[in-house]
Amino acid sequence: MNLGTRAAILAIVIAIPLSGYTLWVSDQNKATGLTLGQHKVLVTFYPLYQFTKAIGKEKVDVSIIIPSGIEPHDWEPTIQDIQKMKDADMIIINGAGLEPWITKIASINPNVIIVDTSNGIPLLQEDSNGFDKTAKKDPHIWLDPVLAKKQVQSIVDNLIKLDPQNANYYQQNANDYKAKLGVLDNKIKTDLSICDKKDFLAFHDAFSYFSKEYGLHQHTIVGGLDPETEPTAPTLQQVTEDAQSLGLNVVFTEEAVNPRVSQVIADEIHGKVLILSPLEVTDKNIDYITKMEQNVSNLKEALCS
Ligand SMILES: [Zn+2]
Repeated sequence: MNLGTRAAILAIVIAIPLSGYTLWVSDQNKATGLTLGQHKVLVTFYPLYQFTKAIGKEKVDVSIIIPSGIEPHDWEPTIQDIQKMKDADMIIINGAGLEPWITKIASINPNVIIVDTSNGIPLLQEDSNGFDKTAKKDPHIWLDPVLAKKQVQSIVDNLIKLDPQNANYYQQNANDYKAKLGVLDNKIKTDLSICDKKDFLAFHDAFSYFSKEYGLHQHTIVGGLDPETEPTAPTLQQVTEDAQSLGLNVVFTEEAVNPRVSQVIADEIHGKVLILSPLEVTDKNIDYITKMEQNVSNLKEALCS
């Protein structure tokens, strides 16, 4: 018997019991309507994955819709992406205009439960004076741990509606996670309150909720709510002059943008470049609290130097 034949026989021997197992599992699925006892939940991007995993743990099958490494602000689903979403039990979105395409999903699968985690949160607008009636809402609520707690509560309330048998389990996990967010909130207050400066230079306009919560003043290199906007030369000149007059020593960049832009300003003001992450293109397995602590550490360096 040559090696190829042997491998083929081995494959058949393994496949027979496996196909029996598959049949058994699909029979179970018919009875429960679920995959191995789990609920299929989709979330749009990183922070929602972390929050939902922390609450559902092994009882919820969570996947991220927007592919890793892709900025959520400009992403649009293809027909194939929409097909992948049509079997979900629940889709959890940030809301506040971050996922305008979600209406397409609701129209092809009227049974899917769509959870908008921005519901009930007072939203800021791009135009902070409120004069521009067409101004976009600011979606970056996940960067304020106090608002993140509300997003967690919104997720747990809806998971309980989907799977009431495990209500206590989900609520306990959510309470534990909200307690961790409370510790983070206190740490931010304590760590940043000792710094003299209140102004910092972020890359894009992602930290308005965070700044409001902690009494800071955000300035940005690119003007809008979307990091993919390229700053013009006059904008860079103006930002550099502002950074100088504010006495800043740190210029922030973020993961999915060209760090040269921040470096040009840092060179002019003899400062350095650090990362202030908007948590938009983060590896899904890195803990949200850890990422926020890294942000706080870098902010402390900027505000206390
Ligand atoms: Zn953003």
